[in-house]
Amino acid sequence: MIKVIISLLIIIGLLFLVLWHSKKTKYICLKCEKTFEISFFTDLIGPHWFTFFGGYKYLKCPNCKQKIKAKEIKN
Ligand SMILES: [Zn+2]
Repeated sequence: MIKVIISLLIIIGLLFLVLWHSKKTKYICLKCEKTFEISFFTDLIGPHWFTFFGGYKYLKCPNCKQKIKAKEIKN
């Protein structure tokens, strides 16, 4: 039983982390150079990776409507 509770706490903690991350972060489209924000759900499911120069996410740009590699910028 205690393992289930610990697992649930870890999952809730991760959800809060993603929520905080989606509120804190904006993305810039590398094609049209527009900045945009993403929803909590998009942040949760979207593929994301980090490089030495910053984080990137594979997103659909709301401006040019293309699947792009968006660079993460601090809000
Ligand atoms: Zn774009």
